[in-house]
Amino acid sequence: MQDSSNRIALITGANKGIGFEVARRLGMAGLTVMLGARKTGLGQAAAAKLRAENLDVRYVELDLVRPETIVATAALIATEFQRLDVLVNNAGINDPGDGPPGAVDLSVVRRVMETNFFGTLAVTQAMLPLLRKATAGRVVNVSSGLGSLAWNADPNWEYAPVKLLGYNASKAAMNMLTVQLAYELRGTAIKVNSSNPGYTATDLNGHRGHQTVEEGAAETVRLALLPAAGPTGGFFETTGPDPW
Ligand code: NAP
Repeated sequence: MQDSSNRIALITGANKGIGFEVARRLGMAGLTVMLGARKTGLGQAAAAKLRAENLDVRYVELDLVRPETIVATAALIATEFQRLDVLVNNAGINDPGDGPPGAVDLSVVRRVMETNFFGTLAVTQAMLPLLRKATAGRVVNVSSGLGSLAWNADPNWEYAPVKLLGYNASKAAMNMLTVQLAYELRGTAIKVNSSNPGYTATDLNGHRGHQTVEEGAAETVRLALLPAAGPTGGFFETTGPDPW
């Protein structure tokens, strides 16, 4: 692992769940963490909790569907640090109305895509100039096994019945962002990868996941701290590469 002191990380949706644990782990690795959250009270409380653990964590208001907060976050980081070393695109939603293609309401698919894909793209585009100013930028898109086209096509996959068109398509689209951005940034020191946390007990799934948040955060943290020899343009879980 590189010396991670003085590196600056931005994590979206970091007030709870996997994002909060990623913030903690990157703080423990010595990074200065900008903890993004859309609700000020929750974000401030989460950052205060990590500061009480002697970590350098600051709240920033960041809502993926409110472009002005994205612009303001980029401006704040530019003023404070002039660069961004690590971007973790973690924020995401599911929707109780989501479902298979023949049944799901179009408005539900649009809503999920708006946050998970378009919001992630907007944040990434806003942060790209700052990532280019870092010596070894890292982007981690927190995807899902549900975003794998290969697994969705396999009727024997253990999660094959989970056909949530909005959510699964949004994660497949995030994976496309990973592949295309990694290609665009080939020849730079910036690495772009997708992580698959695995089924993790959080509010997103009513805490039905079988993993702890510590386990669910692990691969994202590894990809955020990749050494220079690490991969780019890949999709990984803790056990290794996942199929697209
Ligand atoms: P979670 O506990 O529900 O956390 C989701 C986070 O995203 C919350 O902080 C939430 O903020 C934030 N968020 C939602 N919409 C936002 C917006 N418009 N702008 C900014 N932040 C927003 O869920 P989680 O399980 O930790 O999920 C984290 C990521 O892991 C997601 O991308 C999810 O798809 C992915 N993932 C999770 C699992 C799993 O099993 N848990 C598996 C695979 C992938 P609020 O508190 O304000 O709602």
